[in-house]
Formats: sequence, structure tokens, C-alpha cells
Amino acid sequence: MDKQREQDMGDQARQRMLRNDLRGRDITDPNVLRVMMEMPREAFVPEGYRHQAYADGPLPIGAGQTISQPYMVALMTQLLRLDRDCTVLEIGTGSGYQTAILARLAARVCTIEKLDELSVQAREVLRKLAVDNVDFRVGDGSAGWPEPRFFDRIILTAAAPSLPAPLVAQLAERGVLVAPVGGSSSQTLVVAEKYRGKLIERGVCGCRFVRLIGMHGFHQ
Ligand code: SAH
Repeated sequence: MDKQREQDMGDQARQRMLRNDLRGRDITDPNVLRVMMEMPREAFVPEGYRHQAYADGPLPIGAGQTISQPYMVALMTQLLRLDRDCTVLEIGTGSGYQTAILARLAARVCTIEKLDELSVQAREVLRKLAVDNVDFRVGDGSAGWPEPRFFDRIILTAAAPSLPAPLVAQLAERGVLVAPVGGSSSQTLVVAEKYRGKLIERGVCGCRFVRLIGMHGFHQ
């Protein structure tokens, strides 16, 4: 297929996704809709799944992990209420798709992935797409960013049994944290805001993520 035709098909599939799966539900933030329209999701999925890149569901990305459903990426991004000055910590780089969406809306994204091979792949895809405001680390993100610092926003793209204490500690005052919290097979998507050092939490909807494996996550 020639490049132009491939691009046109990608544009059409993204427009369909925007209309049916994002705007058609409750994604209303114009900035979120714009970056979801611009970001080529097919670049983040393995060759054999490219034709399904805009389907309304998660897809395998290797190493037993998945790229989240587009709606879930959009919803979590919208819940973060990002602005151009925000520094964001993301736990679970995976394919790097969510990372790239965040990077287009924030000043800087610091992202941690447990599996080296996925981090390496994600770095390569983001480099090709000229997304250059991202710091990558490999390690246990449940223990927080390895250097002490505060983040305006924190997002977990893997499920935790409870909000990991080191992440709560690294959330800035008035910061927002979004995470799937619950059991290993189903969770509640939680939004927490820090106000005068205390977290105010609310559940948004049910969800299903792969497990956060680490010291402050699931143990295996
Ligand atoms: N946002 C990603 C979703 C990836 S799935 C995407 O859209 O592609 C969740 C990821 O979290 C997996 O890649 C998994 O390896 C990673 N993960 C699990 N436990 C982790 C931990 N303790 N620290 C960092 N990453 C972790």
C-alpha cells in the first residue's frame, strides 16, 4: 500500500474512533480529542495487529502486556486535567501510546516501565514520532521516581491493590493522580487530588488493567 493511501486510511479510522468511541461517550476535552486524532496508534501496536489499531479494545504488545483501549487512554488523560506547565509521572510505559498522548499535552513526562524490552521499543517509536519531552526509566514504578521530586500529575496504567504510598508522597499539592485500584481481575478507576497534604478520592468507573507488579503493587 502506498504511503498516502495508508495515511488516508489511518485518518479515516481515527475519525471513526473519535466519533463513535470517544465523543460518542463522554470525552469532551477538545485538547484530548485533538491529540487522539493526531497520534497514529498503529505505530504502537505490533505489525500483525495494525489493521485493528483503532478497534475499541486493548491489544497485545508482547511480553504478556497490552496497549490500553483508546477510550480508556482518552478518559484517563481527560481526568488528569493537564496543562502545558505540568510535569507528569507515568507508571507502566508499555507501548508508549499513553506516554505520547501525555507528552503532547504536558511540559514533561517521566515514565517508568518494569520490562526493559518494552521501554526500549517505546523509546524508539517516540523518537520516530519526534516526541522528545519524555524521560524513560526501567524499574519498579510502584516505588516512585528514583530521584526525590514532586509531580503535578501521576498516572498508573497498571492495576494496584491500593494507591502506592511512594507515589502519593511524590504527588504535588493540588496534584491529580489517576489509577486503577482493586483486585487482580477487575478494578475501579480512581481519581485522587491532594489538598493540604490529604488525598480526596473518587471512583469513576469499573475497569480492567494488567497488574502493577512491585514492592507497592501486587507481589507477582
Ligand atoms: N499505557 C500502556 C499500558 C501498558 S500495560 C499502553 O497504552 O501501552 C501496563 C504496563 O505496566 C506493562 O507494560 C507492565 O510491564 C508495566 N508494569 C507492571 N508493573 C510495573 C511496575 N511495578 N513498574 C513499572 N511498570 C510496570
